[in-house]
Amino acid sequence: MQLSRMLHLLGALVLVATIALVGRMATTEWQSVHQASESLRLLDQLRLGLLAVEMVSRERGPTNGALGDVLPMAQPRAQALQEARARTDQAFDALLQAVAATQQRQPAGGIDLVQSVRAAQSTLAQARAGVDQVLALAREQRSASAIRDAVYGMVAVVPLLSPVTNALASAAQHAYPALGDDVQGARLAAGLREYAGLLGSHFTAAVVKGQPFSPAERRAIDETRGRIAQLRTLVDLRLQLPDKAAEVAQAWDTVEARYFGVAQELLDKVLAQGDGDGRYGLSAAEFAALYVPEMNPILALRDALLAQARERAALEHQRALRVLAWALAGSGLLLLVLGGALYVIQHRVLQPLAQTTRALKALANDDLQARLPDPVADDEMAAVIGAVRSLQSQTRRRQDLERERDRLIAQLKEQSETDYLTGLPNRRGFITKARSALAQAMRYDFDVAVLVLDIDWFKQLNDSLGHAAGDKALLVVADVVRAELREGDLAARFGGEEFVLLLSHCDRAQGLHFAERLREMVAEAQVLGTADPGVRVTVSLGIADSGQLGWGLEALLSAADAAMYQAKNAGRNRAVAASAT
Ligand code: GH3
Ligand code: MG
Ligand code: MG
Repeated sequence: MQLSRMLHLLGALVLVATIALVGRMATTEWQSVHQASESLRLLDQLRLGLLAVEMVSRERGPTNGALGDVLPMAQPRAQALQEARARTDQAFDALLQAVAATQQRQPAGGIDLVQSVRAAQSTLAQARAGVDQVLALAREQRSASAIRDAVYGMVAVVPLLSPVTNALASAAQHAYPALGDDVQGARLAAGLREYAGLLGSHFTAAVVKGQPFSPAERRAIDETRGRIAQLRTLVDLRLQLPDKAAEVAQAWDTVEARYFGVAQELLDKVLAQGDGDGRYGLSAAEFAALYVPEMNPILALRDALLAQARERAALEHQRALRVLAWALAGSGLLLLVLGGALYVIQHRVLQPLAQTTRALKALANDDLQARLPDPVADDEMAAVIGAVRSLQSQTRRRQDLERERDRLIAQLKEQSETDYLTGLPNRRGFITKARSALAQAMRYDFDVAVLVLDIDWFKQLNDSLGHAAGDKALLVVADVVRAELREGDLAARFGGEEFVLLLSHCDRAQGLHFAERLREMVAEAQVLGTADPGVRVTVSLGIADSGQLGWGLEALLSAADAAMYQAKNAGRNRAVAASAT
């Protein structure tokens, strides 16, 4: 597998793994955040629920007071009752609004909160109507049972709210289980307040009538006190837990001192009177005025526990948010680092490596065209690129040297086959070229003629006019020969003052004719000086042709040479064709 492919695969793998990990972590933390905020919301609703319970309980105070009052009702009492009812209605409205807003989000299996609250609300309306009926009667006309019914009609409202507070409390606990103790504590405190209120209500009818307690009332009072004692133990046990706020501990101490101290003393006193002659020495309203304030610390305890739960949930919310933020930031950083590392490896290693490898492969084939990458940084890759670059330049130098060598060899070959003075081929050059020309002639069966030309009395010219004049004469003859040559013909300086020509498509007669013309041209050419006759030279020529001798170079040369000597012997400045043998 290619490294870059492997890297991409690895990168993708790490990316997917990181995203999966981060996704899982973020989901978990997001759930924690969500549950904490959900528990906060539920705690707020629970608080509204408990407030509604409280307000119903509280409303019973002025209600009971009014039930014991004469007609027309004293203005302050009527106002107190009205205000209490308004507060209860407010509390119900707030609770309804809150639960209606989040009805759909209630946990599965939960009850229909809106409907439950509405049911409690309509029971409350009925209870109030019952109370109002009794209140419309003169005090003497109010029977004990009618008062009791009116009182218990109000008492019956609170249990209808229990399913609502229960559902909200368990949902809040479910969302954040650590809230369990506080929520339970708050519910117990609310229950305690309710029973405390109920206990007060049990006193109302008898106090209003100024009669001893009926056996049923006495039983109800004992039962309720028993239930209150039970709740006191439960709250006490729950508050033994170590991590409670100072406010909670303080609130419980106040409850102990005031409700279980002052209020119980009052109850014991009234109870003793009720058990005796039934002369209580205080009205229902006076009783309520003494008793009701002593229940307030229980509500303070409930609120302290709810506040503690809220604080815990808020802290959990913050913690989960913090962890989520860190998780996201950390994973973002991780992805950034990963991306950066992949980018660096890709751009600083793999891409240059691939390009360098291509260049190196090309170099192995002596190809210098492949471009090398520019090093990105002063790193190992730069060293590799540098090494390949110097290899490239070495190869370039070697190629240049090889070309130079080939050029020199060709030049040398050319020089070795060329006569330095005339520029015509020398004997070696002539023989090479003549052989291939003769092979051509033989293959295509056309005639050739070989001419051997020798300058006459050349030694004398040298001796009398100097070597330079001799050289000049050689150049003049060479020029004449070169000027007369046709395409496909060959001419060479064979040595000394002797020239050889090979004429293609030329028979004996034509060769002789050509030789004659050459001879004449040389004879007319001025070698030295401008004045006529100046220095002139003549030449003797021998001609041999393939028609007579075939295409063998040696045979043609020696025949032409022999013919040239015949020309010399015959007096020079003439052309002689080799005679047939
Ligand atoms: P013949 O008419 O019989 O050919 O007489 P010749 O003097 O031409 O012949 P010979 O062979 O006696 O002399 C040839 C001379 O050519 C001898 C040599 O000094 C001269 N020679 C050979 N090569 C060169 C050259 O390159 N330059 C010059 N200036 N002279 C040369
Ligand atoms: Mg000669
Ligand atoms: Mg000569």
